[in-house]
Amino acid sequence: MATIKLTSYNCLVGADVQPESSSTTTLYPKVCRNVDQFKAWQRSRHWLEMNPNTNGVQCSVCAEVKRLGIHNEPGQHNESEFVEGTVKMKDAKTLLKKIDKHRNSAMHVKCVTLLEIRSLLKQ
Ligand SMILES: [Zn+2]
Repeated sequence: MATIKLTSYNCLVGADVQPESSSTTTLYPKVCRNVDQFKAWQRSRHWLEMNPNTNGVQCSVCAEVKRLGIHNEPGQHNESEFVEGTVKMKDAKTLLKKIDKHRNSAMHVKCVTLLEIRSLLKQ
């Protein structure tokens, strides 16, 4: 008798915060050498994506939280570029620097936490 093992991997990999963004995968910042360079960045930053309207980089987590309206604090103007998808820098090095600064920003950390809590509540 065959036994089917159902392991819930979803619980292990954490919240999937990018429900439908597969159409943006071929886009990459102009300052990147190619799409593979950008994809390499995305491997360790799953929230990093291109905004097809602005051709800028954005943060799917912060954009989602903004869209949901569950976190709205003043004084976060410096991170609004990642919400609007207007992040553009002169070269790949400074762009990645800006991206990693965003990753460590209070707003981003809070948004990641908020979405994690939200996905837990939905289960
Ligand atoms: Zn963010």
